[in-house]
Amino acid sequence: MSPDRPQNPGCGHRVVDYLRMAVTDRCNFRCVYCMPPEGVAFKPHEEILSYEEMAFFVEAAVDVGISKVRLTGGEPLVRKRLPDLVRLIAAVRGVHDISLTTNGVLLPDFAGELKQAGLSRVNVSLDSLDLERFRVLTRGGSLDRVLRGIEAALREGLEPVKVNAVLMRETLDELPRFVELVRERPIHVRFIEWMPVGGCGPQSADRPVSKDEAVAALEALGELVPVASPGGWGPARYFRFPGHQGTVGFISSVSDHFCGDCNRLRLTADGRLKNCLFSDDEVDVRRAVRARDRVATIAAIRESLERKTFDKLRLPGRSGRGMSQIGG
Ligand code: SAM
Ligand code: SF4
Repeated sequence: MSPDRPQNPGCGHRVVDYLRMAVTDRCNFRCVYCMPPEGVAFKPHEEILSYEEMAFFVEAAVDVGISKVRLTGGEPLVRKRLPDLVRLIAAVRGVHDISLTTNGVLLPDFAGELKQAGLSRVNVSLDSLDLERFRVLTRGGSLDRVLRGIEAALREGLEPVKVNAVLMRETLDELPRFVELVRERPIHVRFIEWMPVGGCGPQSADRPVSKDEAVAALEALGELVPVASPGGWGPARYFRFPGHQGTVGFISSVSDHFCGDCNRLRLTADGRLKNCLFSDDEVDVRRAVRARDRVATIAAIRESLERKTFDKLRLPGRSGRGMSQIGG
């Protein structure tokens, strides 16, 4: 770290430089492990931060050490004119990386504009490569459009393109299909352990699939050679099958949690700071942001960071917020 880089206060030797910002709590899917079928009660429009407010927050967060911003949700692309927000954040001095986590269904329409606005790269969530299963797991999503979204991201250079696949017993037999995908395309598939957050889960929730089980299944398909993380940092560990264009990675958020390495801060769409996905601890920063009070905004960020513990996995959170309201 360069000597003039802002240091987070109250975080000991750890650096929190990564902000996950939920831009909406709404979504056009109802993934079985993320939302109940009837959906969740969305926050009223007036409680949701505007793009200008989000950009103001990011400016303040840079002063406290944030340099990487990920837009998430809900589904970020259901919010109108998302490229406008990307443009505002790209103009903030000190932000070096803007990424997006999306279900991908609207990416065919927006990939080009997002790239032009300053987006660096995307992660697309895709849990099944089977048309019918995908429809069931997302409660109505179109696999075809998501695959076209991934291709659009590759075409526009929103790379590295990563795919997030939540491990479920329902889809365990599809690991070879994902391996075929990364053989042919420069895509990085990360298998993520399902986390019991928000009271939702797949039908197989009582028999979750661990990273170790997925690794064993993949090892049966060939030699897994450890490789560096494609273009980034973060908790995933990556491997490549010799000759394949892409890689496979694992995020063992439950069986082998990585709280000690956590570098992230979360902002919900309604302006609450969360220092841990699994914690109910929230700091309200909306009032300070709405008043364009930089000092109070920074104070709220410091307060949240000071309460970050780095050493406790607290499962499950009781705040009542599901994943779609936190941003994953
Ligand atoms: N709608 C966007 C999407 O699906 O990519 C962004 C929001 S979504 C909450 C962010 C990530 O959280 C997705 O990759 C999703 O698969 C993951 N996720 C949601 N619920 C989860 C759970 N219970 N366990 C593990 N991952 C989960
Ligand atoms: Fe929506 Fe993403 Fe949650 Fe699926 S995982 S319901 S796409 S927010």
